[in-house]
Amino acid sequence: MINLELAKKHNEMLEQTMMLSEHMIRPFSRKYDKEEHTYPKEMEQVAELIGAGRSEAMGGGKKKKEATEGVVNGGNMGAVVGMFGLCWGDVGLFLGMPGSGLGNAAINAVGTPEQVKKFGGSYAAMCITEPGTGSDSANISTTAVLDGDEWVLNGEKIYVTDGERSDTLVVWATLDKSLGKAAIKSFIVEKGTPGCEVVRLEHKMGIRASDTAAITFTDCRIPKDNILGSPEIATDAEGRKKAFGGVMQTFDNTRPPVAAMAVGTARAALDMTRDLLKEEGVEVKFDKKPANLSAVEAELVAMEAEWNAGRLLVLKAAWMADNKQPNSMEASMCKAKAARVGNAITLRCVALCQSLGYSEQHLLEKFARDSKIIDIFEGTQQIQQLIVARRLLEKSSSELK
Ligand SMILES: Cc1cc2nc3c(=O)[nH]c(=O)nc-3n(C[C@H](O)[C@H](O)[C@H](O)COP(=O)(O)OP(=O)(O)OC[C@H]3O[C@@H](n4cnc5c(N)ncnc54)[C@H](O)[C@@H]3O)c2cc1C
Repeated sequence: MINLELAKKHNEMLEQTMMLSEHMIRPFSRKYDKEEHTYPKEMEQVAELIGAGRSEAMGGGKKKKEATEGVVNGGNMGAVVGMFGLCWGDVGLFLGMPGSGLGNAAINAVGTPEQVKKFGGSYAAMCITEPGTGSDSANISTTAVLDGDEWVLNGEKIYVTDGERSDTLVVWATLDKSLGKAAIKSFIVEKGTPGCEVVRLEHKMGIRASDTAAITFTDCRIPKDNILGSPEIATDAEGRKKAFGGVMQTFDNTRPPVAAMAVGTARAALDMTRDLLKEEGVEVKFDKKPANLSAVEAELVAMEAEWNAGRLLVLKAAWMADNKQPNSMEASMCKAKAARVGNAITLRCVALCQSLGYSEQHLLEKFARDSKIIDIFEGTQQIQQLIVARRLLEKSSSELK
């Protein structure tokens, strides 16, 4: 049965996270936007207050479930709702908050109960991108070789969000590059392991409160049990090697929360625009016939509709994940839509507010800068569309590139 309402506990979560955003996140937004790479220590208190909900808000921890007429609203729904509320505050500061790493979602999605217990509550960053590999993740060059009871990792990862601040890393590496996608696995590396070194921090256009690191692995030895999923290179019924053997599953859990970051940021821009316009004496009213709307009202109505379309797609993808329904297409669809409209809305809000929107006096210009990355990381706009097209047309990745 379709029910587009949030469960009571999620409405409460949204309210609480927005309150935290207003009082404990936004007041630091400009400071850490200016002081790039400075650790936003005030966010530790926010992370503490979110407490158990924090791991749920990143799709992890103990998955509490609320059943309504046979359906489940669990950790994935909690993740997207928590993300709306916190990123309505500031997506950069959210990403800079302890425990917000995308690696957490990976560990909780595909880790064994022992791995979830040991690493699920850590601050885990995700290391996929390399100097020669971005969208084409089948081209991973970092290697993992089993030597006795240890994996030995060698390679370089770039653009790792939270790479410096995190305490664990989820690293994609190949067991044998000649076997292509089938041999790509992910590994948990604890920071401080010899051979693992943060070598650079990037200066960025947005999300400047979060660090973005380049990390090298040089004969970095980790325990044999730190592989996520099976070390076997799986084959299908016809004996063909299965692509990515489990690592791609992670995206079905991480793309909806990332899309939710766009929904939260765009909501923040829309709310701020209404407030700024009101301060300037432009009262926005939506309760008129379409023909009687002013140009600004008509634009805001159209943006609200786009925003809600993105939001509903995010909720659907998260709901499907909670209810164990395959959601790869919906996860990509919501990421493509929410991130695209998030970019358009935040930029348009700057334009609608003109000098107030462009000025650093308010956060609108920052929302527009921060929003851009959401359409790039965790799979670009074009890659999400490609995945949706493959699913709709029932084509494999080799048939539709
Ligand atoms: C601030 C920031 C934080 C990041 N955080 C992380 C992180 O935590 N972990 C991590 O692993 N990575 C992270 N990344 C990397 C990010 O995921 C990659 O930048 C992204 O996947 C794109 O890869 P690329 O930059 O190599 O671009 P490319 O893959 O080279 O793509 C360039 C352009 O070509 C398009 N394109 C590529 N292939 C196709 C195709 N088949 N069809 C149509 N168009 C295509 C892309 O959409 C894009 O517009 C981060 C990046 C940034 C900037």
